Amino acid sequence: MPHPPRLNLPILRLGIALVVGVFLGLAWWSAPAWLFLPVLPFALLGWWTCRLRREVALWRQVMAATPYRVSIYAADQRLAWHNGRPGQGWTRRVAPLGRHPHLVEVMQALLAHLPPRERAAEMARRLDKHAHAVGEPFEVLTGEGGWERVRQTRLPGGEVAVFAVDISAVKRGELALAESEGRLRALLEMAPVGIWQLDGEGRTVFANRRLVALFGAEAPPGLADSGLLLTSAPDPDGPFGFSTEMESEACLTLPGQVDRRLRIAASPWVSAAHAATGDPAAELRGCILSVLDVTPLKAAQEQIEQLVERDPLTGLINRGTFRAALEEMLAAERRGVLVLVDIDQFKAANARHGQAVGDALLVEAGRRLREGVRPGDLVGRLGGDEFAVLAFGAGHEGAAALAERLRQALRRPVEIGGAEWPLSGSFGVACAPEHGVEADQLLRAADLALFEARGASGDAVALFEPALRARAEQRAELREAFGEALAAGELELHVQPQLDLESGRMVGAEALIRWDSARLGRTVPPAEMLVTAAEAGLMLELDRFVLNRAVGLLAAWGTRPEAPLNLGINISIATLHDPTFAAEVAEALTAAGVPPEQLEIEIPEDLAIRDLPGVARTLAALREVGVPLALDDFGGGHSGLPHVVRLPVQRLKLDRSITAGLPDDPKSYAVLRATMALARGMGIEVIGEGVETEEQALALRRAGCHIIQGWLVARPMPPEALVPPAPKLLARA
Ligand code: C2E
Ligand code: MG
Ligand code: MG
Repeated sequence: MPHPPRLNLPILRLGIALVVGVFLGLAWWSAPAWLFLPVLPFALLGWWTCRLRREVALWRQVMAATPYRVSIYAADQRLAWHNGRPGQGWTRRVAPLGRHPHLVEVMQALLAHLPPRERAAEMARRLDKHAHAVGEPFEVLTGEGGWERVRQTRLPGGEVAVFAVDISAVKRGELALAESEGRLRALLEMAPVGIWQLDGEGRTVFANRRLVALFGAEAPPGLADSGLLLTSAPDPDGPFGFSTEMESEACLTLPGQVDRRLRIAASPWVSAAHAATGDPAAELRGCILSVLDVTPLKAAQEQIEQLVERDPLTGLINRGTFRAALEEMLAAERRGVLVLVDIDQFKAANARHGQAVGDALLVEAGRRLREGVRPGDLVGRLGGDEFAVLAFGAGHEGAAALAERLRQALRRPVEIGGAEWPLSGSFGVACAPEHGVEADQLLRAADLALFEARGASGDAVALFEPALRARAEQRAELREAFGEALAAGELELHVQPQLDLESGRMVGAEALIRWDSARLGRTVPPAEMLVTAAEAGLMLELDRFVLNRAVGLLAAWGTRPEAPLNLGINISIATLHDPTFAAEVAEALTAAGVPPEQLEIEIPEDLAIRDLPGVARTLAALREVGVPLALDDFGGGHSGLPHVVRLPVQRLKLDRSITAGLPDDPKSYAVLRATMALARGMGIEVIGEGVETEEQALALRRAGCHIIQGWLVARPMPPEALVPPAPKLLARA
């Protein structure tokens, strides 16, 4: 586009005025005036040309400044004029301006007042004022791949002015915006969380697919009727009470759906218009919520917490949680009563009747204990059949009553599968702060009390007292001394003969353990020793010691006529559970060259009956080895006669308590007669134990029991007193 010429209008006007003035002066003063007449048309033409040039210059300046490509078509649709901007099929042709008076007017006004950038728009506006629109503005794709926005206006003279502006850059921006908007939308839809935009009134502005799915078929119209309930503490400064600092928790309740647990992050949202202008009138505040459905996560978390904190069987808190609560109570220097509970005979019931019964007993025990305390108190299962109760704020004075209440609550039989099972417990009680200000101290105190309660054959309550500590220390010393005695060979076997009343011969003997402790300076009775061995976990060692010593004695006695035909040993239930025991017996007998029928194994009756399945395999294996079995203390404990038939025993040892009732106690007599009938039916022998008087012996004999053991015959004695060592053995010793 050529630069338009600069016009000096005042000088031009002055020049024209001078020419006209000179002409008029000469015409007036000089004669003849008509001589100057021919000059007048030239002067007028000069003036008109100057004016025209000025208009053209104006026109060019406007066209140079406008970003529009302007073309004017004549009424006959020929291109009359264009401003020379590149365009397809356009020619450079300028029509006389006089034909477009309105345009001229517009341009003059524009040049006078407006900065160049706004001229085009203003020009279009003014053209509108004088013309009717031919059509709506439209956008066209140019041949170069750009875009133009075209606007057509009809001029009053019938011409059409076309204004086309290059909008390629805007269009590219728009396209890029649309593309990024599309990307953003795709991202929002893809997001694994629900995204929810709310306006200042809490109405839904936008909701992505995930949010719609969360609310069912469609997005809720707004927060108020969404069914959402904030469950975490509302933030008064956050939008709609949601915290913008941390995630809020909410619950979503919809009819016919499971309640959902939601975690919500909120961000305030301000409309772009408001953000740009800061104009409160344009204010459009709201918030954007990102909503995560944590229902499955919460469920899993709760499950884990349950597993970590609770006992899955009873639903009570577990040892760790209970201890933490106890520690917390003690740290707060609160009073409280701790009760440790042990279910009586639980292991035997579990082994005898199966795990299902055991589990049902534990669940019921937990439930009863729970019912026996106040709602704020704690009941936990510490493991196995051990429960614990923590009564907050309870004092020493009420401790015994509390434990007694629990004992009563527990001791009713339980109905499982139509049958009734006995249930009772032992209760050890300790009080804080009297018996301990630390968790370990208090638990230990309650445990010592529990030991006492258990020792009293269960279903009992024992309160901690300082003397228990001394007793526990004694027991610890006893355990230590027993371990040393076992290792040092301080333990002895004594033997007690068994007499056949018919033949008057000693047919057998029983080996009984004896311990004269040098360290303790006393003889420890077998009952105390056995408890100690069990506590020290040395029961298996003790039984193996007895087995080897007894086999040694049998080997030493050999076939000597004064020796008993067999020697019975007492074996604990723990050893009978040991699958290697039968093989060890066989090995010991073989090694010593002792026939298996000479060694008799006595099984504690009540224990064997309580856990028959547990010991059945060992008993069968022992029978295979060829060792005879005797059921010890028969009739004195929990056994019922029917159980005997299920045991592969060759002898019954009638309990001392039955013998003691003879001959006068009818009940003892009845048990004796029943036992004899059963034994005859099974073809097995009966030995009367604890026979102290001749009357007892006579009564037994009359009933058909002719083998007796007891002080009447002899007290347990050292083996060499029963069968003096053979001279050659003595010589060797
Ligand atoms: P048990 O097997 O029934 O042994 C018989 C018990 O009765 C023995 O008591 C014996 O000394 C006692 N006794 C025998 N005749 C009479 C009598 O006429 N009157 C009275 N009042 N008592 C009599 P001890 O030796 O104190 O043994 C007690 C229990 O300890 C035994 O009862 C047995 O169950 C267990 N025991 C003894 N030695 C061992 C052993 O080496 N290993 C195991 N595991 N247990 C043993
Ligand atoms: Mg015995
Ligand atoms: Mg016995």
